[in-house]
Amino acid sequence: MQGLLESIIENNKDLVKEGKVASYIPLLGQGNPDHLGIAVTNLDGREYLAGDWEVKYTMQSISKVISLMLAIMDKGSRNVFSKVGMEPTGDGFNSIVNLEVKKLSKPYNPMINAGAIVISSLIEGATVEERIKRIVTFAQKITDNKSIRVNEEVYQSEQETGDRNRALAYFMKSNNILTGSVEESLEVYFKQCSIEVNSRDISRIGAMLANDGILPWTGERIISRETARIVKTIMVTCGMYDESGEFAVHIGIPAKSGVGGGIMAAVPRRMGIGVFGPSLDEKGNSIAGIKMLQELSKELDLSIF
Ligand code: GLU
Repeated sequence: MQGLLESIIENNKDLVKEGKVASYIPLLGQGNPDHLGIAVTNLDGREYLAGDWEVKYTMQSISKVISLMLAIMDKGSRNVFSKVGMEPTGDGFNSIVNLEVKKLSKPYNPMINAGAIVISSLIEGATVEERIKRIVTFAQKITDNKSIRVNEEVYQSEQETGDRNRALAYFMKSNNILTGSVEESLEVYFKQCSIEVNSRDISRIGAMLANDGILPWTGERIISRETARIVKTIMVTCGMYDESGEFAVHIGIPAKSGVGGGIMAAVPRRMGIGVFGPSLDEKGNSIAGIKMLQELSKELDLSIF
């Protein structure tokens, strides 16, 4: 496995030149496009790490999986999915159009920004700080990494420039899709997106999901088997934005990407995978990250289909 990961890094080195580092959040624009990392966590707890796996980046949309799990634990899946749907959109991750044109009573799914902002509003806690702390603590527990933190600079940058998300949230508030304080829900959302991780951390999240909700290295159950099943299914249909269908055909693994350049993947009953390459395609997915997953999937016959 170690040799395979190293050759995957080698084979995809040139791809970092394609695409662009996200810059609509100004601080993300400072990311180094040459970084390329991969990590695999097997379900016996063994880990394989190659390339720039140690480089930190913000979770961005990968955090939507963390908050979805926590919201289901807090409120129950029936309640959560009465407020957010389970259908892919075929539109961009920050699209606003369906909310008005289709007069939706809830956003399509928890992996697009509109849905994720509603999910953030469901996280329990007496104060915003407490809600954010619960998300960070939950991420620390799943990754067995107590040093995980919010990157405050990225958070500032997101919140200064997050007007599209603000527009989505206020529009949903005006239609009673989002209840409570918009600014508080956005603060939770921006901060969860700004949680900083490395590729090993995200491969551990994938491993817990691959292992039906149990941490492979301790045997501790983190989420129910049913929640793990729901989350992995939504990752298949919606996790790679409007590229989810193509990703399912070519790679066939439940996965969630983020505009920070990371992709978290969970191969049911086999392994968790974390890949990182900050240059993105026009849909917002890491170009080298997708190619590395494709190579790994082919070599190890990982497609679930
Ligand atoms: N914080 C980012 C945003 O809301 C997350 C987007 C993403 O990773 O897809 O725009």
